Parts: sequence; C-alpha cells; structure tokens
Amino acid sequence: MTKTALVTGASRGIGRAIARALCEEGFLVCLNYDQSEEKALELCSELHERGFSVMTYRADVSDSRQVGEMFRAVREKFGPVSLLVNNAGISCQAQIQDLTDEMIDRVLGVDLKGQINTIRCAVPDMIASKSGNIINIASIWGLRGASCESLYAAAKAGVIGLSRSLAMELAPSGIRVNCICPGVIDTDMMSVYDEETREQLASDTPMGRLGSPEDIAEAVRFFSSEGSAFVTGQVLTVDGGFAG
Ligand code: NAP
Repeated sequence: MTKTALVTGASRGIGRAIARALCEEGFLVCLNYDQSEEKALELCSELHERGFSVMTYRADVSDSRQVGEMFRAVREKFGPVSLLVNNAGISCQAQIQDLTDEMIDRVLGVDLKGQINTIRCAVPDMIASKSGNIINIASIWGLRGASCESLYAAAKAGVIGLSRSLAMELAPSGIRVNCICPGVIDTDMMSVYDEETREQLASDTPMGRLGSPEDIAEAVRFFSSEGSAFVTGQVLTVDGGFAG
C-alpha cells in the first residue's frame, strides 16, 4: 500500500529536495506551501511528469485552523498521513533589543508552533494505526546558538526539545520522531548573506563547501526508511563538520 507523506515548506529549497526524494522512495507526497504557489505548482507538474503521485496544499503552518483544514483535505483524498516532515521555516537576523513583538510571534509561530500544529493533527491517526514517522528540521544554530539569530536559534532549540520529548511520548504508540540539524545550506534562506559572507561560511565548513538541499534530503531518506525502524529521538547534524 502506498504511504502518504506530508512535507511542509515544499515549494522551495530543502523541502523541494525532500519532496523529490520521498517520491523516489515510493511515497505519495503532499506538498505544503504558503506564499510560493507558482513554485509549488511547478514542482507538482515536474513530479507528475515523472509519474509520481503528488498534490499541493496551501496552508500557513503557524495558523492551526489552516493546518487543520489541510490535514482534513489530505485525509479525505489520500487517507491518514503516515510520514510528516516538518520543514517549513523562516530565519531572522536581529539583535535581541531590536526584536519586535511581530518578529517574535512570526518566527516562533512558523518555526516552532508550526511544527506543533502539524504534529497535533497527524498524531491521532498515527496512534490509531500504531505506526507513524515524524521528521523535524531544526538547525545547528538550535544546538550551538548564533549571535544576532537568538530568536531563530531559540525556536530551533525548541524543535530539538520537542522532537526528543515526543520520541519518548510516542514510541509506545509505534511512532518514531527524529530531528535533523542542517548546517549552512545553499537555498534562498542564504540570500540574506552577501557573497563574501557566503564564501566565509563555506571556508568555515571543514568540508569546504556549503551544503545542498539534497544533502538534507538524503538524511530524510534514511529516517523515512525501514532501515531506521529502531531509530527514534535522534538529532542528526548534517553540516559538513561545521558545528564540530
Ligand atoms: P527556504 O529556501 O527559504 O524555504 C523555506 C520554505 O518554507 C519555503 O518552501 C516556504 O514556503 C516555507 N514556509 C515559510 N513559511 C511558511 C509558512 N508559514 N507556512 C508554510 N510554509 C512556509 O529555506 P530552506 O533553507 O529550504 O529551509 C528549510 C528548513 O531548513 C527551515 O526550517 C530552515 O530553518 C531549515 N534550515 C535551513 C538552513 C539553511 O542554511 N538553508 C540551515 C539550517 C536549517 P513559501 O515560499 O511557499 O511560503
């Protein structure tokens, strides 16, 4: 039986690569996006042309009502979600004294509450079937902190705590929860940095290059596979050695 996966933030960057990889692994993939409809539809047609089963769903993950509607629509069409990949995220560079209430609500809302929102919707069906798989994308900044990115780092540290806690809570129900901490990955999220900073980040990476979205998708392949059936509660850093 084909298993249904839902990938949040699948319109661009890492999510796009994850969606492609999960199609290749035989999942029916629901592509969530928020603002980039054209890109989501473009990916959807590319994957259809390759013979894969995919569908797009617009929802702002920070909005629990929109997330609930998305899960209802997915369930009606494809049945319960058996693999949830929480990838949607936004970054934020600012000194702590310059953060506004709006910035705090938005970053925590998308990066942390967004993952809680989707997990709340996915888990009841997973508990009922005594199986399920959740993969949360955090960041190395959530592990080691980052100057002028305290809000983002705090949200991502929250994702790590959420993942470890849920792995314990949900293991008796046959649900695995793992977390991936990407290092510096070459996506639109990096566009806030100028060329010089990007080169510096690449040379600060022991492997001498920025990561690619596919580097992260490969880790998702592992956690989504039967080969990792006994692996839960893990936080896997994929960063070319950056965090040491
Ligand atoms: P990206 O290229 O900027 O893409 C972000 C994705 O998240 C887009 O598909 C975007 O969709 C989606 N998104 C943003 N806000 C959303 C919302 N409210 N609801 C639903 N979707 C939303 O970023 P990326 O580099 O691929 O990042 C993917 C994940 O990896 C994020 O969680 C990020 O924090 C994490 N990460 C990235 C890096 C890096 O260096 N790039 C490092 C560590 C961790 P729309 O455009 O459709 O709104």
